[in-house]
Amino acid sequence: MARMVKEKDPHSWKRKWSRESVELPGDLSKLAGSYKQFLDDCRTERECARSMADRLSGSGFIDLSRPTRAKPSPGRGFFLVNRNREIAFGMVGKRPLVQGTNLIAFHLDSPRLDLKPLPVDGDADTGLGFLRTHYYGGIKKYHWVNIPLSLRGTIHTTDDRIIDVGRDGWTLIIPDLEPHLSKKAQDTRKLMNGITGEELIALAAQGVVDPDSDRPPVTKLILELLNEKYGIGEEDLISSDLCLVPDLPSRDLGFDRSMIAAYGQDDRISGYTALEAVLEKGDPPERWALAVGFDKEEVGSDGPTGARSSFLELLIYRLLEWSGEGNKRKAMNAVLGGTFCISSDVKSGINPSFKGVQDPLNAARLGSGVTITKYTGSGGKYSANDASAEMVHKLRSHLNKENIAWQMQESGRVDEGGGGTVAKFLASRNMDVIDVGIPLLSMHSKYEVSSKADIYMAKMLFSSFLRRFTP
Ligand code: MN
Ligand code: MN
Repeated sequence: MARMVKEKDPHSWKRKWSRESVELPGDLSKLAGSYKQFLDDCRTERECARSMADRLSGSGFIDLSRPTRAKPSPGRGFFLVNRNREIAFGMVGKRPLVQGTNLIAFHLDSPRLDLKPLPVDGDADTGLGFLRTHYYGGIKKYHWVNIPLSLRGTIHTTDDRIIDVGRDGWTLIIPDLEPHLSKKAQDTRKLMNGITGEELIALAAQGVVDPDSDRPPVTKLILELLNEKYGIGEEDLISSDLCLVPDLPSRDLGFDRSMIAAYGQDDRISGYTALEAVLEKGDPPERWALAVGFDKEEVGSDGPTGARSSFLELLIYRLLEWSGEGNKRKAMNAVLGGTFCISSDVKSGINPSFKGVQDPLNAARLGSGVTITKYTGSGGKYSANDASAEMVHKLRSHLNKENIAWQMQESGRVDEGGGGTVAKFLASRNMDVIDVGIPLLSMHSKYEVSSKADIYMAKMLFSSFLRRFTP
C-alpha cells in the first residue's frame, strides 16, 4: 500500500487536514497502466479528443452533434466535439439543468514544437536536411535537443484529402553542440538561450553536399519521402497542423514504482481521470455532470477551441433544448450562475533541489493528494482566479466527507513567478470556479513526474464531485 504521508515529514502536522488515514488500493498498477497507455496514444489535443470520443461513444454516450431520439433521463451520458480539438462530455442529472451543473474544466493541449508553415529546409554545406519549428507553449528549449521526436498532426491536401500523421515510424532529433566545441559558442549563454528558438531544427534526412545550389538538394529528398508516404506536395504542408512531440514511452518511476514519468501529463492527467470518473458505473448524478477539455490553454486560451470561446454556451443551449427547457438566455444564465466548476490542472510540486522558490507552508508535495489552489496568477494576484471563502469551504467539506487526501497549494513564493489556468475565463461567465490540481515535478518537460497516489485521489475527487457534490 502506498503511503500518503511519510512518517518523518517535518510538515506532517499540516497533513492532518489531508486525512492521513486515507486508504489506497494495494495495487495502483491498473489505473497507472491504462493512464500510461492513454498518454502514449494521445500526444496532441486532436488525438485526445478523438480517443475520448471513441471511448464515450463505445460506452453508449450520445453524440450531441447529431439529432437524437434518446430522452435526457438521469444517468444518460453525452458528448460533443468542437473542431476535432476540444471535447465536452457528461451525464444527465436528477435535478433540472437550470439549477446548474457540476463542471470539471481541463485542457488537452501540451507544450510541443509546431512545424513552421514551410518547414522543409537544408544546409548545402553539410548536406543535412531538417524541419524548422516554432515552439508552442512555455518550454525550456534546451529540453528538446537530443531526444527522439515523433511527427504528429493532420494535413489537408490540394485534392481535399485529410491525412492523419501519427505513429509512422519516423524519428527526428534536434542535434545539440558537443561539449568539446561549445566553450565560446554556447557555454556562456544564459540557460534559457542554451538553444534558441531558431536553432530548434529537427534532422530529417542526409543528402549530397552542394554549396553552389540555391536550395540544398536534400530538401528535394525530404519532399520526395513525404510524397511517398503521404502523397503530398510542399504546398500541402501549409494547410497542416503538424508538430513534434517526445517519442518517449511513459514509464513507472522509482525503485518503488510509486511515480509516473511521461510527456503530456499537463494536463492530460486531469482529462484522463475525469474521463474515467464519468465512465465509471454508478448511480445517476444528483446534478448535471459536465467535463470540458479545452484546447489552447498553453498559449492563452484564445481561438474557437480555447476556454474564452462561446463553445461552452453553445453546448449548454444544446443541453437546454434537449431537456425541453428551450434555448432562452434566461435559462442559460441560470445554468451558468448555478454551476460549480473545478478547474483542474497540474500544479508545481516541491523540487528538493529548488525548495527556495516555494513557501513550504503553502506548497504541494508529490504523493500528498490533490491540491486546492485558492488563487493562481502572479505578482499581486494579477490575472488570478481567487476562489472565495464560500467556495473553498464547499470543496474542503466535500473532500473531507469523501475521505480524499488533499493539500493547499500556491504556485510559488510571492513575486517568484506564477501562472494561470482556464479558471478565470470560466469565472467570467458568472460561475463559481475553484482551482484544483495534481502536483508534478518537471512540468512542461519531456518527462513530467507525477505520483500514482495523487492520480488515484484525483479520480476519487472527480467521480464523487460529478455524482454527489451539491453546492
Ligand atoms: Mn496545464
Ligand atoms: Mn501547462
